[in-house]
Amino acid sequence: MSELYEYKAYTARNFRSLPQIRQLPESLKKEMEIVAMVLPFKSNSYVVNELIDWENVPDDPIFRLTFPDRGMLSDHHFDRLKTARESNTGKNQLEAVIHEIRMELNPHPAGQLALNIPVINGKKLEGIQHKYRETVLFFPSQGQTCHAYCTFCFRWPQFTGMEGMKIASAESRQLADYLRNHREVTNVLFTGGDPLVMKSSILNKYISPLLGSGFEHIHTIRIGSKALAYWPYRFTAGQEADDLLRLFEKVAKAGKQLAFMAHFNHPVELGTKAVKNAIKLIRSSGAEIRTQSPILRHINDSAKIWARMWRTQSRLGCIPYYMFMARDTGAKSYFNVTIEKAYEIYREAYSKVSGMSKTVRGPVMSASPGKVHILGISEIAGEKIFILQFIQGRNPDWVRRPFFAGFNAEASWLTDLYPAFGEEKFFWQDDFEKLARIKMHQAVKQEDD
Ligand code: SF4
Repeated sequence: MSELYEYKAYTARNFRSLPQIRQLPESLKKEMEIVAMVLPFKSNSYVVNELIDWENVPDDPIFRLTFPDRGMLSDHHFDRLKTARESNTGKNQLEAVIHEIRMELNPHPAGQLALNIPVINGKKLEGIQHKYRETVLFFPSQGQTCHAYCTFCFRWPQFTGMEGMKIASAESRQLADYLRNHREVTNVLFTGGDPLVMKSSILNKYISPLLGSGFEHIHTIRIGSKALAYWPYRFTAGQEADDLLRLFEKVAKAGKQLAFMAHFNHPVELGTKAVKNAIKLIRSSGAEIRTQSPILRHINDSAKIWARMWRTQSRLGCIPYYMFMARDTGAKSYFNVTIEKAYEIYREAYSKVSGMSKTVRGPVMSASPGKVHILGISEIAGEKIFILQFIQGRNPDWVRRPFFAGFNAEASWLTDLYPAFGEEKFFWQDDFEKLARIKMHQAVKQEDD
């Protein structure tokens, strides 16, 4: 069956052709189309036929993850779009409205563009990000799409064609040159989009040079992908799957670690025969699989779901790695979970699993200064506080130094927090502001040149 499985993508253009969609009320389909004008969506035959429980639509978590929902836009934005669409304004005007709304959805949070792209001799290295000392992120230009366009993910603008928003590079040589000169880098994360939408031969062209001499300092090749959850046949069917697994083996034979950073949002994504088979094959290539997901309202905001997910992952030989807070971008308000709730869910779920799953860290905010781990909620000297620490920082010296924020029940991101005990600033703030100023200056100078 899996060999014959046919991939078919569904977007706003053809989703109405799905028999399952035809059964839904027309009003719902219209709402989906309006939201999709700003937040595009994509699903496929596997997700539609094997993951979504259509009896449970629209509440089904995988349906909510992969198809647009009215609640993903504010009433104000939705009404503006609806009016613009129905009043037959010209194409240009409609596009202007869409663009304005997208710009109000914080399309590049955490300084993705200005702060992370390295500048060498006054030139930006597009397609490369170097935020933390040991890790370089690479965005291969052929891997800039995904199996789904998750509206909680900072990548959503990449699927809209918004000018200047695509972080990409076709230059594997540029990556190799950069890494050859940065001996402090020990791991490279291939990301996107989803790098596994690329042909295996193209991925090979990027990865193979890093296995040879001059790259002894690179210990780990990471691949961040949602393909296991949304298209496991990538690993099980046909020549492309074989070539990919041979590439993973080649990395292992070169004495390096291939770490597959698998994105799973819900236990349902781990339940099919196809995904279990794919996990087995990846692991037998010598690669390890680490799992991560943001905590998302409507999808996985319960301790029971997380405990089930971690348990299943461990049973299948995967390593639970991160529970993230959803970033402040796109449909954030729809998926929003407060820091307090996320922490309570994490704590409860963590208490329900064995040591094998306790490799997971959370909740973590991948924020502009670094990866901030919420360690706990406590009361000291009569003040209720959040206890936090950096797991990764733009300055490595910030890492694992606990700091304290005043408790705020509404807070869902680092920017909602303020220092506890009457302090004016967090200990890292001056340093970060200085660092950000330098980076911004470099970026502006590059624009001017
Ligand atoms: S990178 Fe992952 S989370 Fe982001 S849109 Fe693609 S599949 Fe979704």
